[in-house]
Amino acid sequence: MKFIKQILVLTIAVSVAGICARTFAQTKDEVLLAAATADQPNVLKTLERLVNIESGSSQLDGLNVLGSLLHNELQSLGAQVSRVKSAVGTGSENIVGKFTGKGKVKILMMAHMDTVYGKGILEKAPFKIDGDKAYGPGIADAKGGIAVILHTIKLLKASGAQNYGSISVLFNTDEETGSNGSSALITALANEADYVLSYEPNVVPNELVVLATSGAVAVNVTVTGKAAHAGASPELGVNALTEAADFILRTQDIDDKANNLRFNWTIANSGGTRNVIPEKAEILADFRYATPDQVDKVSARLKELAGKPKFAGSKIEVKTTIGRPAFVAGAGGEKLIAKAKAIYAELGLTMLTLPRTGGGTDAAYAGLNGTPVLEGLGIPGANYHSNSAEYVSISSIPRRLYLSARLIGELSAGRF
Ligand SMILES: [Zn+2]
Repeated sequence: MKFIKQILVLTIAVSVAGICARTFAQTKDEVLLAAATADQPNVLKTLERLVNIESGSSQLDGLNVLGSLLHNELQSLGAQVSRVKSAVGTGSENIVGKFTGKGKVKILMMAHMDTVYGKGILEKAPFKIDGDKAYGPGIADAKGGIAVILHTIKLLKASGAQNYGSISVLFNTDEETGSNGSSALITALANEADYVLSYEPNVVPNELVVLATSGAVAVNVTVTGKAAHAGASPELGVNALTEAADFILRTQDIDDKANNLRFNWTIANSGGTRNVIPEKAEILADFRYATPDQVDKVSARLKELAGKPKFAGSKIEVKTTIGRPAFVAGAGGEKLIAKAKAIYAELGLTMLTLPRTGGGTDAAYAGLNGTPVLEGLGIPGANYHSNSAEYVSISSIPRRLYLSARLIGELSAGRF
């Protein structure tokens, strides 16, 4: 009911602004900017509704409620909606909507529904507005992105724009835990698209675009030795803890900051009783890479070193688990970035370029087979993943809607 009222408000607002069916201009679109500005209060209402459903990655009930809400929203806007069960994990459902236009260009818009927060977070950190900041768990990461997607489509619909071939929308449920259950879906949908627009949050005060993110690998090393009495006969044992420590020292030169390869030991477990030589040790490293060949090189090096233990009778086993791949914007992505910057320039704004970030997003899965991807189209905010202080900038909402709708207009018109 509330949703229908919102559409009515929006429709009246854009009618007053005088929008009718038309194509997007290449220069500043004053009519679109006016409509985006008029829509700001509605975006805030959407944000409040989204934030008020707790949807931590493991909260199946909350994710289901949020999924149903988004399913209905997309359907009301005219999309064909399907629900795709997560391939692993909680059994949550990813929401996929498809709008069919009259043109040729296929665009995928995506944002994640899950947040990093646990059950009960809303009691500690309810939705609130304070000056130019709207606060709430997940409001930036990435419910702001979901709101921008929904309201971009409302703006496009209200303007009568149908020059796209199709716009697919994906809301997935497990980005914060690595997207293991949705990565294949993301890649498949991106493969069908000509362009992917991803709505992770941006940052205040300097909005930016990212050229590359690092890939992540978990390295798990198990050392097996032999237990013995530490006081009476330590020489009868093989100290797995000492072997592990030696292995840590022998791998110190793998980290290579200059080549954006970061390799750091972060967890160690061994021993249980002070007077027993430990027979087992487990050490874990966090490994970030810029290019896939670095994974092969480091894996080979670790295996080689593991084959030469310090002590006779000890065994070192290395297991590498590849997580989110590295994302590189590439030529297509850089063209999208240039487009976004040009649109911001229409508004007299500058967008910065960040060469690389060590964190990863679903842009990596979307760009796996070369489809151009633009990341960071959500609302600028701060303090993501903090318990009570996550917020978005309210006054940035019109320009983010403008950017998103203009991008789709330009891409649909074949201006790339
Ligand atoms: Zn996120």
